[in-house]
Amino acid sequence: MVTQYVAAFGDPMEGNPTSKMQNAAFEHTGLDWRYLDFTIPAADLEAGMAAARVIGLSGMNFTIPHKVAVIPLLDGLEPSAEISGACNTVVRQPDGRLIGSNTDGTGFVWALRDEGIDPAGLDVVLLGAGGAARAVAVELALAGASRVTIANRTPSKRDELVALLGAKTPVSATSLPWEGILAVPPCDVLVDCTPVGMGTGQAALEVVPVNLAALAPSTVVCDLNPERAHTAFLERARERGHKTIGGLPMLARQGAAGFKAWTGVDAPLDVMVAALGG
Ligand code: NAP
Repeated sequence: MVTQYVAAFGDPMEGNPTSKMQNAAFEHTGLDWRYLDFTIPAADLEAGMAAARVIGLSGMNFTIPHKVAVIPLLDGLEPSAEISGACNTVVRQPDGRLIGSNTDGTGFVWALRDEGIDPAGLDVVLLGAGGAARAVAVELALAGASRVTIANRTPSKRDELVALLGAKTPVSATSLPWEGILAVPPCDVLVDCTPVGMGTGQAALEVVPVNLAALAPSTVVCDLNPERAHTAFLERARERGHKTIGGLPMLARQGAAGFKAWTGVDAPLDVMVAALGG
C-alpha cells in the first residue's frame, strides 16, 4: 500500500494548526498517511482541484476562502454540506468520486455532547451568520434543537440563514437584528460565531458588543475562536457564573470526524487535542 495523502487548501494557511493535529493522529495510529497544507488563492481553486484528482488525494480539507466555492467542483455532497452550502471536508471514494461534507457543525455538537449537553429541545442563540454559524446552526437543527436565533449585523446574511433553516430543517428559526450593543435574549446556549477576539495583542482582548444581563446562570456560553481556550468573551461569561466552552474542542472533533471519514479508523481524540495544545 502506497502512502496516502490528505491536503488542506486555503489562503492564508500560515498558523493553521490542523496539519500538526492530523499528522500526530496518523503517527499515533501507525497509518502510512500524511497531511499537507497548500496555499491556494481563490482564483486557482479549479486548477487545484484538477491537480487533486490527478494526484489521487485520499482526502481534503477546505478553509477560507474555498468552503463555498469548492461545492460545484465536487461529485456529490453529504447532507451536512448540501444543507449548509459549505464544505470543509472531502473524501475520495473507491471509484474516484470526490464527496463533500461539513464537519464544523459535527465538531461543535460533539463538543457539546462531551460536556453532557444534548442539543435536543434546546433554545440556542448564535452571534454571526458566516460559514461557521451556518454549519453550527444546521447541525444543531439536525440534532433536534427546538429553536435557533441568528443575531447578525448584516440583515441579508441572517435572513438567508433563517430561511435556509426553515426550508431544510425542522427547527424554529428566528432572525435578530444586531445594531450597537445586542441585548442577548434568554436561551439555553449562546455561541459566538464571529471572529471578534481572534489574533494577538489588543485584538485578542476584544469582545463582541453584547449585553448578557438577561441570561440565566444556567446558560452555557461558547466561543468558536480556535486560537485559545480562554477568550476575553468566555472570561466575561465565566465572571457571570456561566459554564463556558471554547473553540479548541470543536476544532479537534471536526478533525476527528474527518480522520474517521478518510481512514475508516476511529480517531485518537486525546492525541489530537494534545497536538492543539488543549
Ligand atoms: P465569516 O464567514 O467571515 O463570518 C463572520 C461573521 O461574524 C459574519 O456574520 C459577520 O457579520 C460577523 N462579524 C464579524 N465581525 C463582527 C463584529 N465586529 N461584530 C459583530 N459581528 C461580526 O467567518 P467564519 O468562517 O464563520 O468564522 C467565524 C469564526 O469561527 C472564526 O473565529 C473562526 O476561526 C471560527 N471557526 C472555528 C472553528 C473551530 O473548529 N473551532 C471552525 C470554523 C470556524 P456581518 O455579516 O455583519 O459581516
